[in-house]
Amino acid sequence: MVSIVVIGGGASGFFSAIHAKYFFPDSDVILFEKGKEVLQKVRISGGGRCNVTHACFDTRQLTEFYPRGGKALLSVFQQFQPEDTMQWFSSRGVELKVEDDNRVFPVSDLSQDIVDCLLQEAKSVGVKIQTACGVKSIHRLESGDFSCHFHNAPERVFNRVIMASGGGETRL
Ligand SMILES: Cc1cc2nc3c(=O)[nH]c(=O)nc-3n(C[C@H](O)[C@H](O)[C@H](O)COP(=O)(O)OP(=O)(O)OC[C@H]3O[C@@H](n4cnc5c(N)ncnc54)[C@H](O)[C@@H]3O)c2cc1C
Repeated sequence: MVSIVVIGGGASGFFSAIHAKYFFPDSDVILFEKGKEVLQKVRISGGGRCNVTHACFDTRQLTEFYPRGGKALLSVFQQFQPEDTMQWFSSRGVELKVEDDNRVFPVSDLSQDIVDCLLQEAKSVGVKIQTACGVKSIHRLESGDFSCHFHNAPERVFNRVIMASGGGETRL
């Protein structure tokens, strides 16, 4: 069984972990979050309403919002773009609305609905979640596997690593 470690319990960590399970259902996917709670930034995002995405479905036009790196994002958006994001959440029971400026929010105006959706989907596909467990370092082994060292747990070896530890104050 392939083992995949996801480092960071934010929006990107959850989405990556869930998709790792979609693509490799037999894999063992475990997400480590250094804080006591996961998805903390999603909770406060958009002033507690969570601006889920932007209702621009033309991928070329969408790249124009990214003056640096827009070209590189084109192929990414061709695979998954705001329309897919909206479809993903609405097909999992989160009703969304598009505001006048094209920002997309849950109809409830509650970021908790997004948090609950990600938690529920992660649970239903079998992502394991370990909170209060920060990854201290990762070493590549000769076998090609990755040895993860934690601040407060024994070392563990995984076949694959997904880094989703955010920007800014990211620590390893
Ligand atoms: C006030 C505010 C409002 C925002 N509003 C919006 C919005 O409405 N819409 C929007 O799209 N974006 C919004 N953003 C931006 C958005 O929150 C970020 O782009 C998004 O949260 C990034 O997600 P992430 O998963 O990459 O990183 P994060 O949410 O930062 O998650 C990274 C996680 O990794 C954990 N971590 C870090 N290092 C380690 C380690 N060594 N071991 C284990 N875990 C680790 C962190 O504790 C954290 O939980 C907002 C940001 C702020 C600050």
